[in-house]
This record gives sequence, structure tokens and C-alpha cells, in this order.
Amino acid sequence: MATAAETIHAPMSEDEESALLDAIQKWVDKEVRPVVQKYDHADEWPKEIVEQMVEMGLFGATISQQYGGLGLSAVTYAKIVALISSHWMAITGIFNSHLIMACAVERFGTPEQKAKWLPKFAGGEIRGGLALTEPNAGTDLQAIRMTAERDGDEYVINGTKTWISNGINGDCFALLVKTDSSADPRYNGMSLMIAPKQEGFTTGKKFKKLGYNSIDSAELIFENYRIPAENLIGGVEGQGFFQTTGGLELGRINVAARGVGVAEGALRLATEYAQQRETMGKPISEHQAIQLKLGEMVTRARAARLLTFDAAQAYDRGERCDMEAGMAKYFASEAAVANSEEGMRVFGGYSYSKEYDIERLYRDAIFMCIAEGTNEMQRMIISKQWVKRNPA
Ligand SMILES: Cc1cc2nc3c(=O)[nH]c(=O)nc-3n(C[C@H](O)[C@H](O)[C@H](O)COP(=O)(O)OP(=O)(O)OC[C@H]3O[C@@H](n4cnc5c(N)ncnc54)[C@H](O)[C@@H]3O)c2cc1C
Repeated sequence: MATAAETIHAPMSEDEESALLDAIQKWVDKEVRPVVQKYDHADEWPKEIVEQMVEMGLFGATISQQYGGLGLSAVTYAKIVALISSHWMAITGIFNSHLIMACAVERFGTPEQKAKWLPKFAGGEIRGGLALTEPNAGTDLQAIRMTAERDGDEYVINGTKTWISNGINGDCFALLVKTDSSADPRYNGMSLMIAPKQEGFTTGKKFKKLGYNSIDSAELIFENYRIPAENLIGGVEGQGFFQTTGGLELGRINVAARGVGVAEGALRLATEYAQQRETMGKPISEHQAIQLKLGEMVTRARAARLLTFDAAQAYDRGERCDMEAGMAKYFASEAAVANSEEGMRVFGGYSYSKEYDIERLYRDAIFMCIAEGTNEMQRMIISKQWVKRNPA
């Protein structure tokens, strides 16, 4: 089984990384910023932006170069995600969910699975996501009911997933199933499958959401859906729970990076506005009440960034980093919520206008406290790891 350090490749030189970030900033300014409100307000899938992200290689960002990906380190990847998210967080979800699926195949798949699927994932030819959650099971993943029964050289899958990102527009999903519903402990009966859309796999309703618009969140319905047994990730039943939680470390670093982006985006918008808006004959940035807000916002954003890169560096070294990724995800997502709310207050009444971007950041932020393991669970994971690493 490949470690994170083996699959996430050599860091770029500082010059290469800054050239890449520069190119992405230029793309954001030219292509993304002019259209974000149009797509977000209509909750429309941004086809041309997705095509550009495919062209830039973002769907292969963390996939190894040997499979046609960019092979970026988690640190460089987190910087890219934070940069884009500071303008439009939702579009990073489109390639992140896809990369978590790819990460599961690259870290835990057989050589044949990697050779077959990763080049297509890396080139964006096949795009998708991670399908874990069911109507009755989100945090308690071991309670899922979706079954996969072996029938000769195939598995027959039945059940429903819900809230799956890229559900409508994706072509393929890493699908968590029960291969043994009577296993005790329950996690021993769980497996992860590569599930392309084909007969027996349909999409249900697309959810209407508070924020995190333009990326589709949908139900996936499986009725006597048959896939070859060779689609079982790693080729051995009973590994799915660990494969999923292993993949979530990168997912949590990504959500942390999105939190950094939203926290920094809210800070940037509030800083600009506070210097332009005048009351009582001076810019509001000169009033102490606003200074206190900006002082807290910049501190939170910086702390979120440092925690996120700390976790990403541990991931790149191939270390176990559930505590670091949990701390980063927890802190950065809460920083996004706090900064976007403070940003709303800095904008006063204008914050309620759809013409200003701050309201989107406010609507988008809370999602990150729920995604990839709720922040309640993060704190419990952090505490358990902390105690384990510090025996009395
Ligand atoms: C926009 C969006 C996109 C999503 N995308 C995906 C996706 O692509 N793939 C996917 O598989 N899922 C996805 N999800 C689902 C998401 O991962 C779950 O919503 C999340 O894991 C929480 O599960 P739940 O909603 O069932 O809440 P529940 O598990 O019912 O939790 C409800 C509350 O109880 C708390 N809680 C639960 N158990 C405990 C416990 N043991 N101790 C303490 N507190 C507890 C939780 O922290 C939370 O506050 C998405 C969700 C949203 C909203």
C-alpha cells in the first residue's frame, strides 16, 4: 500500500510554485471573478470554468505525474485552494471531491486499478467524487445500509447515497458499501468500490442549498447496479472504512485551505470597504470598533493559514496527521465563519445586497464546519489523538 509521501510528490521549487500561483491568480482575475455572481446567484454549474480547470490540470493536481497528474505536494495544493477560495470557494469543491476519489485509488488501489483509472481521472476525462453519506448515516458512517453482494465476478449494489458533491455532473464515484452487513465490528464489513455511472445507477434530486452553490449536491440511487469485482478498491473486502478515513486527511486539509481562503477573502473585502466608506467625516477603518474587527480577522486568517500548512507539511512527510488535519479543518472553517460574519458587519446594510460578494462568503462559510467530518467530531478526534500522544 502506497503511503501519502509516495503518492504526493516532490515539492516544487519556490520559483516554480510562485509562477504557478501567479498563473492561477491571473486566471481567477480574468475568468472567475467576472462570472462568479452570475453562476452563484443562478446556482448554475459553471461549465466553462470547469473546462478551464481541466485544461489547467487541476483535476490531476495531487495525482502522481506517472499517471498524468501534476503530482503537487499537499502544501502547494492547499495554497492553490486557498487562493481560489478567497474569491469563489464552491468551484474548489468540484475538483477536490474528484481528487479524494483519485486519492483513494492511488493510495489503496491495485496496480491494475491505478493504471486503468488514474490517467482518466488526472486528465479530467472521467470526473467524480466520494459517496459515503446516506439518509440515515453521515457522522456514523458505519451505519450505512448500502449493500454489495458478490455474484460470480461481479458485485450487485443496492441502496441510496445523499448529499453527494458532483452527483449530477460527475461520471464516477468512490462508493462506500457494506460487503458484510453482519460484521462485528461493523467497519470490518465495509468496502470501497469504483462506481462509474451506468445501468442501475441514477441520480435523484439536486438539493437547493443556502450557499456552496453551482456545485451540484445530489442523491445517488443504486438498483441492482452491477460492477465487475475488479472495481473493489485494493481487491480485498473489509478495508473500506480505513481507506475512507485515510483519504479524509487530504480532504480535511483541503477543507481547511478553503476555510483559509474564505477567511482571507472576507478580510480582503472588509479591508477595502473599511477604507472607502466614510462616517463622521472619516473612513470607518479609523473607528476603533472597526479596527478591533480587522485586528481579529487578520489574526484569525493568519493562524488558520499556519495551521493548514502545518498539517499539509505533515501529510507530505507521510506522517499520520489526523490530529493536525483535524485542528486545521476545525480552526480554519470556524475562522471562515467568524471572518465572513464580521465582514458582514463591516459592510453594514450593504452586506445584505447581492451586489456585494461578502454575502456569498457568509452563506458559503458554514458548510465547511459540516463537511469532511463535523467540527464537533474534529474536536473529539483532536482530543483522542492528543491524549494518545501524551500518555500519563
Ligand atoms: C453541501 C454538502 C455537500 C456534501 N458533500 C458530500 C459528499 O460529496 N460526499 C459525502 O459522502 N457526503 C457529503 N456531504 C454529507 C456530509 O459529509 C454530512 O452531512 C456530514 O458528515 C454530517 O452528517 P449528517 O448530516 O448525517 O449529520 P449527523 O451525523 O446526523 O450529525 C448531526 C449533529 O450531531 C453531531 N454528532 C453526530 N454524532 C455525534 C457524536 N458521536 N458525538 C458528538 N456529536 C455528534 C454532529 O456533529 C452534528 O452536529 C455533504 C453535505 C453537504 C451539506
